[in-house]
Amino acid sequence: MTPLEDAQSFVLGNCAPLTPVDVRFDASDGLVLAADVVAAEEVPPFDNTAVDGYAVIAADTASVPVELPVVAEVAAGAATSHVVRPGEAVRIMTGAPIPAGADAVVMVEETERLEGERVRINSSVQAGAAVRHAGDDVRPGDRLFPAGTVVTPAIVGVLASINALTVSVVPRAKVAVLSTGDELVEDGGPLEPGQIRESNRKMLSGMLREAGCDVVDLGNVRDDEAALETVLRDAVGGCDAVVSSGGVSMGDYDVVKAVLGRIADMTWMQIAIKPAKPFAFGTLDGTPIFGLPGNPVSSIVSFEMLARPALRRMMGHRKLARQSIVAITDDGLARRPDGKVHLLRVLAEFRDDGRCHVRSARAQGSHQLAATALANAIAVVPDGDGLPPGSEVAVVLLQGSALGA
Ligand code: AMP
Ligand code: MG
Repeated sequence: MTPLEDAQSFVLGNCAPLTPVDVRFDASDGLVLAADVVAAEEVPPFDNTAVDGYAVIAADTASVPVELPVVAEVAAGAATSHVVRPGEAVRIMTGAPIPAGADAVVMVEETERLEGERVRINSSVQAGAAVRHAGDDVRPGDRLFPAGTVVTPAIVGVLASINALTVSVVPRAKVAVLSTGDELVEDGGPLEPGQIRESNRKMLSGMLREAGCDVVDLGNVRDDEAALETVLRDAVGGCDAVVSSGGVSMGDYDVVKAVLGRIADMTWMQIAIKPAKPFAFGTLDGTPIFGLPGNPVSSIVSFEMLARPALRRMMGHRKLARQSIVAITDDGLARRPDGKVHLLRVLAEFRDDGRCHVRSARAQGSHQLAATALANAIAVVPDGDGLPPGSEVAVVLLQGSALGA
């Protein structure tokens, strides 16, 4: 059996980052920058007021109260050509440019408007009060976001503010997903003897999207070598990777194994983990293919441990694994020695003691998806006799966990 770490590094080593592309900045959310973003414009673009109030010369407010004539008004989006002289005030709204001559703004709450275009100023201000200076957020030439940064909505906002209309990013991986098995149906009708309802493809499609990939759904492929070969050859022509489920074990109809063994450069692994021991990885015409096991829970675990980090690497991410932490198992996690690391699905919860506590999702069979579907973490239980109540255990936080990546 192959240790999980060896399998992971083998897969990562064969999944190179995709070639960067230029995209519109507002289509970059969630993608990884392939080049540094350097500001070409300053933000704010001009000195402006942080408050609604009156632009003044600060020295005029040295002794208060003081009454000043209001000689002009300037709203956000407007400007005034009036140059403020000693003893004058200009009514001004948040975001409007500071008029020439003024060096401070008195907030409206510290003033009283008087008859005849005059204002009483009730508190003194220092020069610079409530003035937001040009460039005090961003200056031209600032290296704001280095290559490797994951674009967030706030970063999209900054890109807009500096007029960075296109950015160089690593694109989303376009990933084909398919299921194999003559037993699979999804037409909603009654089940014939031996049939089951397809579930992995729907599940894996969502997991791929959550990982940031674009999904190409290739449907269910029958356990037929010729049919599978056609589908796979088409898929690698137009996609960056292929994820299949089923057909990688030792059964007589494990056609994924048979076909890929013939047409692709594959490595078949028995990984020292439970569930998800069988796993296939290789390339067909240079395109990575992940052959996940068919049991639904094994499919999830295999995807999380092997496919997801590799797909993230292809999309330029530097942080490939999900967040993992040390948690406490209050009830213990039972197992028997078998030479494998057990990846138990657990419910993780942060408690008032500042620690993460986990309890088993109960049914741990690799076909028992319903219990695993409620889990939000995977506990990594080393080979041996399990962990007694109160032990510490490493857990990988999945989507939906408080700290999950
Ligand atoms: P296999 O890996 O093809 O030997 O399949 C292992 C088990 O997973 C069998 O019980 C299959 O019926 C089941 N299985 C395989 N593919 C799927 C799927 N797409 N959806 C639900 N169950 C599946
Ligand atoms: Mg099968």
